[in-house]
Formats: sequence, structure tokens, C-alpha cells
Amino acid sequence: MPANYRAELVGVLGYPVDENPTGVMQEAAFAAAGLNWRYLNIEVKPEQLSEAMRGVRAFGMKGINLTIPHKVAVLDYLDELSPEAKIIGAVNTVRRDGERLIGENTDGKGFLRGVRVDAGVDPRGKKVTMIGAGGAARAIATELILAGVSDLLVVNRSPARGEKMVADMKTNTGGNIRFEAWRDTYRIGNDVDIFVNATSIGLYPDVTAMPAVDLSAAKPTMLVCDAVFNPPETPLIKAAKARKLPVLDGLSMLVYQGTIGFEMWTGHPAPEQVMKDALRRALLA
Ligand code: NDP
Repeated sequence: MPANYRAELVGVLGYPVDENPTGVMQEAAFAAAGLNWRYLNIEVKPEQLSEAMRGVRAFGMKGINLTIPHKVAVLDYLDELSPEAKIIGAVNTVRRDGERLIGENTDGKGFLRGVRVDAGVDPRGKKVTMIGAGGAARAIATELILAGVSDLLVVNRSPARGEKMVADMKTNTGGNIRFEAWRDTYRIGNDVDIFVNATSIGLYPDVTAMPAVDLSAAKPTMLVCDAVFNPPETPLIKAAKARKLPVLDGLSMLVYQGTIGFEMWTGHPAPEQVMKDALRRALLA
């Protein structure tokens, strides 16, 4: 059989992308699965997204991830959107179906898989409080509602953004979702089952930042989740551990959005442990 030196290409388009660690776990997974695939961090300025997307088609790339600032702008260059991506209004993963590029959003799905698999919690019927109303919050809220949570309270600093998100989600999902403005320290109720930080508070380089929330009334089984993955142990996760509350860090969400992407692109089952180990090694190095 003649040798085949042609690699299949995937990657992430963003600006900046230097510190995006997704490629580390994807390349580890390709190696473990024996696939001659490459994952490239591709820096694309906002005004060059259109040309970059033509490049994605011209190079026959099997798929891409999108990060800041392209998650919404990319919608103009796709042939189809998954139902979840439509509700969220943003795409973080594109897969190819023949010549068609399909927009998906795996952020919320990755979060949900972490809640189920790593934390062992079924969100159905649960009461959730989430701080934040940006892209990650929209993705997480959509999947939580589709998974059947009974009540979702969104708390955000900017009321306009929070109200808009809740109104959009209500219209698009019919879920039981409410909004409360975040003024002073927010006291989490004793009937909340899952608390989520979907803000960027605690993200590198502000690694000592703690969201202004009071955990003292939380019931002992309340799961505390953080979307921030760098560093994995945020001040919020530390504070929850100090109270002996169960926790789920942002690495879990990041790994699972990656495993879902790997499976969409390659059609192979993702080597989850290989991906988790590679990412932890990269971020804790
Ligand atoms: P956005 O910029 O879209 O939203 C940021 C949110 O954080 C807004 O709700 C904003 O509130 C809030 N916020 C930021 N700073 C403060 C502050 N000082 N006080 C109160 N609220 C604040 O970001 P994303 O939604 O894209 O990302 C949010 C976080 O999720 C990031 O840390 C990102 O790294 C992480 N993430 C993790 C993923 C994973 O796989 N683990 C995947 C995707 C994202 P306001 O509206 O008032 O400005």
C-alpha cells in the first residue's frame, strides 16, 4: 500500500489563541487513537474571519473550534446550525458533513457531562442558581433547561444583559428561568441543589478573585461548579471545599466539550482519560 503522508486538519480560530490549551488534549487523543490528525491554534483577527472560513473550506478542514471573538460572528459563514446552537446564538464547534459546515455548541453539553459523570448528579428536577449571563452562561443554561432542571435563577451584575438572556431563554426553551440583579454579596439559598459560576471571576491573571457570594446557608449536598478552568482550583472552589461542599472545576467542562468535539469530528470514541491527563498536565505545569 502506498504511504499516506496527508494529515487531516482541525483547529481553533480565535484572537488571541496562544494560550488556548485545547490542542494539547486533542493531539494526545489523536496519537492514542492512531489518527494522523493535527490540531492548529490559528490566530484570526475579527476582520479576517470571512477569509479564514474560506480557508477552512479550501483546506478541507474536518472541523474547527471558535473562541473569542468569533463565536457569534461565525454564524454568517455556516450552512446549518444545531438546535442548541440556534437557541444559544453562538457556535464553539464546527463539523463538516460533506461540503457543508454545521455549527454546534458543545460548551453546555461538556458542562452537563461533567455534572453527570464527574459529580454524579442528575440535573433533572434540580434547583439551580447561576452567576453570569455571557456566552458560557447561555450555553450552560440551555443544556440545564433541556436536561429538565425545575428552576434556574440567573444572577448577573449587568441587569440589561441578564434580563435579555432570561427573556431569550424563556422564548426559546419555555424553561422555568428567572433573573435577579447582583448588587452586594449574593446569599445562596438553602434550597439550591447546584450553584454555577459562569462569570470570568477568578480567571488568570486575577487568580485571587472570589465572586461576592455567601455560601454559609448552602445545604451540605449543594454542588459548586466553576466554568473558570485556569487555574482549575479557583478561590470559589477552595471556599466550597473548605465548607466540605461537593465541587466541579472548569477543567471537567473543558475536557468534555473536547471529547464531544473529538467524537463529532473523527467518529471514534474519545480516549477520555488520555485527554484529561494531557490537559491537567498542561495546565498544572
Ligand atoms: P463573557 O465575556 O461572555 O461573560 C462574562 C460574564 O462574567 C458576564 O456575565 C459578566 O457580567 C461577568 N463578569 C465578569 N467580570 C465580572 C465581575 N468583576 N463582577 C461581576 N460579574 C463579572 O465570557 P464567557 O461567558 O465567554 O466566559 C465566562 C467564563 O467561562 C470565562 O472564565 C471562560 O474562560 C469560561 N469558559 C469555560 C469553558 C470551559 O470549558 N470550562 C468554556 C467557555 C467559557 P456583566 O454582564 O455584568 O459584564
